[in-house]
Amino acid sequence: MPKPRKATHHRAATAEIREAAALYSAGSLEPERAAQFDKHLQGGCTVCPSELRAFQETAVQLAHSLPERKPPTALRGRLMDRIAPKALARVLVRAGEGAHSSPPGSRA
Ligand SMILES: [Zn+2]
Repeated sequence: MPKPRKATHHRAATAEIREAAALYSAGSLEPERAAQFDKHLQGGCTVCPSELRAFQETAVQLAHSLPERKPPTALRGRLMDRIAPKALARVLVRAGEGAHSSPPGSRA
């Protein structure tokens, strides 16, 4: 996929623009392309922001259309057992300023 080097103002939405807008709205665009898209949006293009808004509105509508469910208590417990040690390990590394210390009971 060619990367535009100079500021472009699109006249119409293309498949490439829609793909970039969709990925960007989902936070799935590669960091380099996201930065380029950001810059492009700030450059005054009128097509890309409206495409992006459309995808963002669709994402919001999708989220609201899903029925709200409370997870079973046992599932929540299992999930927390899995993610809590990793989250704790991350906190310990940051607090130690680079020196790694494993939380008790974890294998690192
Ligand atoms: Zn554009």
